[in-house]
Amino acid sequence: MKEQDCLRRFLFEELGVRGEWVRLQSSWQEAKQYQQLSVCVQEKLGQAMAAVVLLSASIKFEGAMILQAQGQGQLNTLIAQATHDRKIRALARGDTQMEAGSLTKMMGAGRLVITVKPEQGEPYQGIVALEEDKLADVITKYFTQSEQLKTRVWLFANETHVAGLFIQELPAQESYKVDWERITALAGTVTKEEMLTLDCNEMLFRLFNEEKVRVFEPEAVTFECGCSPKKIETALVSLGKKELDSIFLERDIIDVDCEFCGKKYSFDQVDVENLLSAQTISNPLKTKH
Ligand SMILES: [Zn+2]
Repeated sequence: MKEQDCLRRFLFEELGVRGEWVRLQSSWQEAKQYQQLSVCVQEKLGQAMAAVVLLSASIKFEGAMILQAQGQGQLNTLIAQATHDRKIRALARGDTQMEAGSLTKMMGAGRLVITVKPEQGEPYQGIVALEEDKLADVITKYFTQSEQLKTRVWLFANETHVAGLFIQELPAQESYKVDWERITALAGTVTKEEMLTLDCNEMLFRLFNEEKVRVFEPEAVTFECGCSPKKIETALVSLGKKELDSIFLERDIIDVDCEFCGKKYSFDQVDVENLLSAQTISNPLKTKH
């Protein structure tokens, strides 16, 4: 039985360096099944998915991390989300049928926004320009620019699997330059084929058999959208009464399909009027103008 749909953390105990490994199979199939994506778009979205699982597992928080790449090219949006308990979802927008090479070629000029939305407290964001050909290099640049801990990631995806490797120096325990360079050079020799097929321990042995590595228990990663009637209602109400009224001139029902999981939500005019009046009551200030 292959080890997949899980995250594993590991530690180079003597070097002040930690790592994470992720491989997804059925959660990846579920996450993309509601979208028609070319092989090339699947590769980019899968890499974003690996990245968000690895990055979200590297910080302590309760809530969701959203990685959103936004560009002016034909493929204009990639969204990948992971929660602290490893629930994932992902979405591509634009020409999702395009076949092309690099990230920059497909997405054009743009930026990558990494948002952390804690369940308690304010969200926070980091932003980096989409200037590299590979998403992994965009993320490395993000860590360099924001002067956070030294970090490198390797991201791979195809139609069946997603895999990623993350190496970071430990906080408050700066690694020696020579150790950091050796570990990242070894990690850099990993191939797409190996990452998409080897289990974590096999991969660690293949890369670091001369190093002392402590590996922790696997953590399951699952596809779960997290959309709800309440969230869809909020989005609907935010369109405003005028816009909603004009939609009802043309049809009797507003159908909203969740782009991530395909779930269908329907609202008739009475539903929408109830939502709008409920909103007026809960936001009394809005009635004062
Ligand atoms: Zn959904």
